[in-house]
Amino acid sequence: MQAAPIRIWDIPGGIHPEEHKTESTQRGMEAAPMPSRLILPLQQHIGARAEPVVQVGDTVLKGQLLAEASGMVSCPLHAPTSGTVTAIGPAPYPHASGLEEWAITIEPDGKDQWTELDPVADYSALEPATLTEIIREAGIAGLGGAGFPTAAKLRARPEQKIHTLIINGTECEPYITADDTAMRYKSAEIVAGIEILAHILQPETVLIGIEDNKPEAIEAMRAACEGKAMQVVSFPTKYPSGGEKQLIQILTGKEVPSGGLPADIGMVCQNIGTMIAVHDAVLLGQPLVKRITTLTGAALQRPTNVEALIGTPIHELLAFAGLQADKLYRLVMGGPMMGFTLQSMDAPIVKTTNCLLAGTLEELPPPPVAQPCIRCGFCSEVCPANLLPQQLHWFALGKEYEQLNRLNLFDCIECGACSYVCPSSIPLVQYYRASKAEIRALDLQAHKADHSKQRFEQRQARLQREAEQKELERQQRAEKAARLKAAKEAEAAEASAAPPVSAPDVERVEAQKPSGLSPEQKQLKIAAATAQMALKKAQKQIASNPDNVDLQAQIPVLEQAWKDAQAAFDAAAGDTSVKPTPPPAAAPADDEAKRLKIEAAMARAALKKAERAAGDTPTEEQEKELYALREQVAVAEARLPKDEPAKKPVDENLKKAKVELAMAKAELKKAEKALAANPDDAELQQSIEPLRQRQLEALRALEQAEASSPIPPPERQLVDKKPVDETLRQLKTDMATAKAAFKKAERDVQDARDDGGDIDAAEAQLLNTREALDKAAKAFAEYMSAKETR
Ligand code: SF4
Ligand code: SF4
Repeated sequence: MQAAPIRIWDIPGGIHPEEHKTESTQRGMEAAPMPSRLILPLQQHIGARAEPVVQVGDTVLKGQLLAEASGMVSCPLHAPTSGTVTAIGPAPYPHASGLEEWAITIEPDGKDQWTELDPVADYSALEPATLTEIIREAGIAGLGGAGFPTAAKLRARPEQKIHTLIINGTECEPYITADDTAMRYKSAEIVAGIEILAHILQPETVLIGIEDNKPEAIEAMRAACEGKAMQVVSFPTKYPSGGEKQLIQILTGKEVPSGGLPADIGMVCQNIGTMIAVHDAVLLGQPLVKRITTLTGAALQRPTNVEALIGTPIHELLAFAGLQADKLYRLVMGGPMMGFTLQSMDAPIVKTTNCLLAGTLEELPPPPVAQPCIRCGFCSEVCPANLLPQQLHWFALGKEYEQLNRLNLFDCIECGACSYVCPSSIPLVQYYRASKAEIRALDLQAHKADHSKQRFEQRQARLQREAEQKELERQQRAEKAARLKAAKEAEAAEASAAPPVSAPDVERVEAQKPSGLSPEQKQLKIAAATAQMALKKAQKQIASNPDNVDLQAQIPVLEQAWKDAQAAFDAAAGDTSVKPTPPPAAAPADDEAKRLKIEAAMARAALKKAERAAGDTPTEEQEKELYALREQVAVAEARLPKDEPAKKPVDENLKKAKVELAMAKAELKKAEKALAANPDDAELQQSIEPLRQRQLEALRALEQAEASSPIPPPERQLVDKKPVDETLRQLKTDMATAKAAFKKAERDVQDARDDGGDIDAAEAQLLNTREALDKAAKAFAEYMSAKETR
């Protein structure tokens, strides 16, 4: 069935230079001879340079990987024939600058032996991504001249559905006939390559655009497309219809937005030569190692199109085409409009070399000397991109890059149409190319500067964060140290200050007891009890810290204070039977006596400390010190009042038993307190009984020590040996437990209110604990009342 004709659109501008196509199409497509060596530049495409994977001296087979792609936008490189790697390094390179480029050089062995190939039998069974990877691994880059890696182009806008695939068979530039030749002699391969691409992209429409100056190509392609889901579209010849954006406009009437890609409007454009490479890669398993190149120009005896190995030196190809060196004036790679002049014929053809134009002086005369712009406007009329070439030229001269960007310099396809028509012979395109290069360099510089700035700012921010963190940690350490210091000071103050139980507390406790004493007697009794408690506390502390000289000095003072207070109370109460209380008159109550006692105690403590430090084998210095201290003790004791003993005897066993009992009591008390706060703690519950047992044993040990002590009764401190009231202890524990449970229930109610928990359940628990606490308090009160009555 005949496909409906496709409407075509015109593009703005354009020119009609002499075509010079027929010179190279007379001999069909020839195979170029095997060159003497192959030079394979590592940079034959847009993007990152390939990385060699072979070394000098390696033998390689045709199609073997020589260099691998080094990024997403990069292409691998393969051996075009079998042979030996003879060099890897700078080599002649086809560029207007004439500079060299790193390349792998191979000396062919003449066998042209393929490496093992892996053709795909049924590509339609493969996923698009797999086929795209095969294309990538085959090293295919656009063969139309730009050299953009084909796989990267297919993945350019993965989120954008491609509805139209356009195959560019325009070849609008004069002299070049490589695609024309390919379409004439390789149409089947081209169509197969298009079908593979259509399978990858799944487009709704496939169009093959060919200018009407290639009737043989159009006929061959139409024949090959017969019955396929693709259509050949012929349109009038005009330069530069072959520009990607221009061809899309001609075939679809749609414009690719400024700065955008065809994929942005759902289209992909591929070159004819690229389709042959895709066919070879997928169906034959062959990487890109050859291409069709036009050899043309009046300096050649037999212009032609050759299928040549990539890397073939240009002079060998030109020799094949009958180069007449004496006629050669300028050698151009590409066409006369967009190509560039080669500095050396030693350079090789690369993947993008579609034409070598060996021009004579008459054919490619030197450009006339440029004249000032006469503002004729011809350049604007022919510009296919609707640009203002004359203004672009003006701003390019002044290096006004912002203005150039505003005038869409980067939409210029460098077709050279403006230069071609300029009556002042101004090389406009060269100005644009130079300006583009400078802008790209500045952008790169700005990008690098931005990147550096970002890194600097990120580093500053990181340093700031670290400094803030350090300061925070320093403050926390300082606060912690301050808290510790305050706690130590409070502890020290408590240790050296008055008894822990305040007089009002004692008064309150004493007042609760029905004693029958007068207010004055009560006051005296409270004073005696307070003095006794202070003395006991000091004794307790010195038991655990016997080297504390300050405490040693306090003991006699506190002891005397208690005795005085007790004596005063006894006198007021008319009871003088209390044994520890000596008669006030007998005590050395005056200040001088106290001071002498303190001095003697301090001297003894200092001597004791020095003796401990000296040990059994004192040094000479220590002997002297000990002698001096003994002298001091003797003097201090000699000055003591005659009715006081020089030194109270100490029973070490008794002292040890007291300390043990105090420690056992303290541990039991601590455990009981913890249990009151955590009544459900099984470990705490189990610890109580052993601690009670320990305290009981310590008490018995003390009793035995007291019984066996050689110290006469007035010299000993008798322990209150009241039997432990277990019932009272249990009642107290029950009350503490109930109180802790009640407190916890109160917190639970508050938490339930704050967090939206089960308030009813929490309040019910609070009620239960309240009742338990009331019950425990009542039991305690009743027991105490009954005890006092007894
Ligand atoms: S064609 Fe040449 S002379 Fe005419 S306006 Fe353009 S730049 Fe100027
Ligand atoms: S070279 Fe650029 S400015 Fe000149 S005609 Fe072509 S697209 Fe327009």
